Amino acid sequence: MADCNETLAEIWRFFDDQLSDAARADIESHLGECTDCLQAFDFYAELKTVVAKSVRDDTIPESLRIKIFECFGDVLAEDDDPELTSGS
Ligand SMILES: [Zn+2]
Repeated sequence: MADCNETLAEIWRFFDDQLSDAARADIESHLGECTDCLQAFDFYAELKTVVAKSVRDDTIPESLRIKIFECFGDVLAEDDDPELTSGS
C-alpha cells in the first residue's frame, strides 16, 4: 500500500501511464482513502490540461511557452511539439 509521499512522487508517472498495473492499483486505492492526495491528483489533472493547452496557445509569447515546456516537458512528452523541442 502506497503512502502519501509515494503517491505524490508517482502522480506524474501515473498521468503518463508509466506505472505498472500493481503500482497504479496501489495509487488508485490510496486516492480512494486519502482526501489530501485526491486533491493533489485533481490539481495535477487540471494543471496538466492547462499546461497542455497553453503550449499550443498562440496568444502566449513564444518565450513563455518554451519556459512552460521546460518545466512540464516530461508531462507533455507523449504529445511532443517539435516546434518547442528543436533549436535550443
Ligand atoms: Zn495520501
